[in-house]
This record gives sequence, structure tokens and C-alpha cells, in this order.
Amino acid sequence: MLLEQFEGWSEGRKATEDELRLCHTADHVTRVRSVEGVEWLDYDTVATPTTFDAAALAAGISIEAALRGAFALVRPPGHHALPERAMGFCIFNNVAVAARHAVHKHGLERVAIIDFDVHHGNGTEDIFSDDEHVLMASIFQHPFYPYSGTEDPAPNMHNVPLAAGSGSKELRRAVTGTWLPALEEFRPQVVFFSAGFDAHVEDDMAMLRFTDGDYGWVTEQVKTVADRHADGRMVSLLEGGYALGALGRSAVQHIRVLAGLNA
Ligand code: ZN
Repeated sequence: MLLEQFEGWSEGRKATEDELRLCHTADHVTRVRSVEGVEWLDYDTVATPTTFDAAALAAGISIEAALRGAFALVRPPGHHALPERAMGFCIFNNVAVAARHAVHKHGLERVAIIDFDVHHGNGTEDIFSDDEHVLMASIFQHPFYPYSGTEDPAPNMHNVPLAAGSGSKELRRAVTGTWLPALEEFRPQVVFFSAGFDAHVEDDMAMLRFTDGDYGWVTEQVKTVADRHADGRMVSLLEGGYALGALGRSAVQHIRVLAGLNA
């Protein structure tokens, strides 16, 4: 069993409000902390009085995962969260908070974010557009929620929209044709994954057709760059994934490559 091959599980810690404000407005942080009863922060994002702790924990675990090189098994996800508001199940932008923490607190100059969730990571793109320290490479179904990522992206954004029905072949073309050349040129010092598994063929949240093995393959491709330029430093944060069987199997493929375990 995969879990038995790991030591050093950590339950993590909550991000501080200062850390959340690396990417979010003080008003947004206060709003989430002040929720009473049941409040809708967005038309599909509901919050209760325990939401702040859960979301701050997800962001704090992401920061800690980045320091250790780990897979952060967190919910709520983060990549739709904007500086000033929650969006699309996301409260705080976990990958953005952790990446900016790496730049501001640890002095990294080149951080790459790989987002293979089926939805465009609009919050992450909003936060890092034109940020010279960050490169973002993504695939996403298009046109599809949140209907962004294709109009005039900043030069540090390497987005590959995929039509409904796209599968392994189109993923491979995006990775080898767009992601890898951009990553090679950028020479990241650490690679973050916004690891959503909702592009899986069994996930009916969307209409891409990735397989379990695709998640291992894409991780191997990115690992070659991380090994060459970042001394193998990779950190991965869970985003979407709603077909639980496929989510579990795909995450195992991804984690095995991250951890250098044999398939
Ligand atoms: Zn998603």
C-alpha cells in the first residue's frame, strides 16, 4: 500500500492572516473569518463558521508542503480563488499563497506552477500575470467554466485550451509542444502542481478523457525539468477531482512519480 512507503505524515498548520494576505485582500480574509450561519460567497461556494479554519489549514499545509517537498492532500481547493473573493469551491488560493511565500520568504526567483485541473486556474493566473518570478503552464477544457484563460494571456502564462473530448493525445501535444519548452527556458527552482484530477474520463464534472496513466506520464515529463533545473524539488497540491475511484488511482500514479517510487 502506498501509505506504508511514506514516513513523516504531518497534519500541518493553519496559514497566518499575514500569509493569506500575500495573495488576498484584508477584506476577503476578514469576510471569510466573520461568516455566521451559512453564507454563499459565490454562486457555487458556500461557507459556514468552520470554513475559515479549513481554508486557512489548506493554505498553511500548502506552505509547509512547499518547504518539505510533499503532496498536500487538502480541501477546499484553491486555484479559482481571486485576491478579493472566493470562487468555484475555492476560498483561499493555496498554490498562490505557497508560491508567493517561496518567493517572498525564501528568496526564490523562479517558481513554476503546473495546473492540470480540467478547469482554468483563473485565480492563480490573475494573481501572477506578469510576475517575473512565476511561470504558469496549464491545460483546461475550453470553452468551459470559468470561461477564461484564452484572451490575451500575459507572457508568463502558458495556457493550452483543449476541446471537449480531448484525451491522452492532446495532453501529450500540449505538454511536449508548449509546457516543456517554456519550462526549459524558464529554469524553475521549484515546481508546484495544482493537481486537479477532474479531467479524468470517469469524472463527469467535465468532458476531457484523461486516464490514470496520463497523470503518471505528465508528472514524469515535468519531473525531467525539475531534476535538471530544480534539483528535483516538486510540491503538489490537490485541486479538483470528483469521481472518487479515478481520483484515488490517478493521485497514486502522480505521487509515485513525485516520490520516485517504481510503478
Ligand atoms: Zn476543476
